[in-house]
Amino acid sequence: MKIITKTLMASCIACACASLPVLAAEKVDLIITNAQILPMDGQQRVIDDGAIVVKGNKIVALGEMKIASQYEAKRTIDAGGDIVMPGMINTHNHIPMVAFRGLGENGVENRLINFMFPLEKEMLSRDLIRTASRHAAMELALSGVTLITDMYYHEDEVAKSVAEVGIRGVLGETVIGFPVVDAKQPYGGLEYAEKFIDEWKDHPLITPAVAPHAPYTVSAEWLIKAKDLAVEKQVPLLTHLAEFTWEESKTDAFSEQMQPGQSVIEYLDSIGFLVDNLVAAHVNHLDEQDMALLKKHGVGIAHNPKANTKGNNGYSPSWDMVNKGLDVGLGTDGPMSSNQMDIINVMGYAAVVARTNHGDNAKFTPYELVELATIGGARVLDMDDEIGSLEVGKKADIVIVDTDAPNTQPNYDPFATLAFSAYPQNVTHTIVDGKVIVADGKLTTVSQQAHDKEWLPVTKKVGEFAKTLN
Ligand SMILES: [Zn+2]
Repeated sequence: MKIITKTLMASCIACACASLPVLAAEKVDLIITNAQILPMDGQQRVIDDGAIVVKGNKIVALGEMKIASQYEAKRTIDAGGDIVMPGMINTHNHIPMVAFRGLGENGVENRLINFMFPLEKEMLSRDLIRTASRHAAMELALSGVTLITDMYYHEDEVAKSVAEVGIRGVLGETVIGFPVVDAKQPYGGLEYAEKFIDEWKDHPLITPAVAPHAPYTVSAEWLIKAKDLAVEKQVPLLTHLAEFTWEESKTDAFSEQMQPGQSVIEYLDSIGFLVDNLVAAHVNHLDEQDMALLKKHGVGIAHNPKANTKGNNGYSPSWDMVNKGLDVGLGTDGPMSSNQMDIINVMGYAAVVARTNHGDNAKFTPYELVELATIGGARVLDMDDEIGSLEVGKKADIVIVDTDAPNTQPNYDPFATLAFSAYPQNVTHTIVDGKVIVADGKLTTVSQQAHDKEWLPVTKKVGEFAKTLN
């Protein structure tokens, strides 16, 4: 069938040459051919033997292979039947913490307060944050993550590294009620955030944001100041929410405005903190009324099933939230919590958590899991009109996943292959904003060798200090 089509096309072109003016092929930058396309455009469809055409940073055409003949591309990638999908979106992380990955893994009680905060106090610097962020961004790009959402300190250094590697970043400068590496005064992060937002707001890959850490580390007054800044500058507002069972008692003790008997979510509603540009990470411990409040205010949910279960912090009712119409995407949390930063692994954890929670193996189908990993994340960040699916007019954030590897064969159902069988190492190509930043499993934007010269001394220093903590 394919051969006949090609023969017909060839003869048509031949007669056109003889008797009709030749229509010039449109010049474009990139065509991906022989693709098993998962558009994730809401139609739950697969385009086998497809092609995607990219001009500049946008998708200008996609469909059956025959569309490719209308274009002349500077570069063609033959996908060889592999899965071609939207770039994956990580909706919650603290990427510079990759410098501390693997430390304090032997059951430290209240690890955040007793281990992570002291480690950060001693070790963090502008240089560590920039180098570790580059390391993380490289790992993310290689795993097919095309957008990272981050909350940390010196976010301008995070931004430099994320942009250098070439993935997108929604990067929130942390506001917290004690002195930290980039703010000598409690809550100094707010001033830092305002400057960071003004400096980076027009960058094509970076969306600067403000990130009040959590209701138990930020007072009501400063939560509202952070929210007001996000609303005024029209940027995302990132926070941790209802992650721990102890959160209500600590928030109650911390904030004079929390009323007895209120849940943390009711408290945040009462002070006017819940707004539609808020992205709340975790959201494990909540009831129906809390869910209704989050939905009413259009709050996006970053679901981190691996970090939550590894840290024994509970199970988010993510399936219920999705089915009540809340926007839910997938995240990993920081590399001390989840260790891996890719989203391919998180799809499987999301299914395991939902199915265990409900005692039902139908909760989250493979298609729904791929939705959470792509367009779901874009909805959480209010960026779904630009990214999250493969559609004409959208930005070209595209990932190719090898379906000829032993672990991705057989590939009867590409959604099941991705959600349950694939490894991040199966990603062969990552394209962000039309630019190929990973080709044949190798980064094209930064040199591993040059990076290692900065990275290895960082891990040596951290490793030496970590020995004093035990
Ligand atoms: Zn976190």
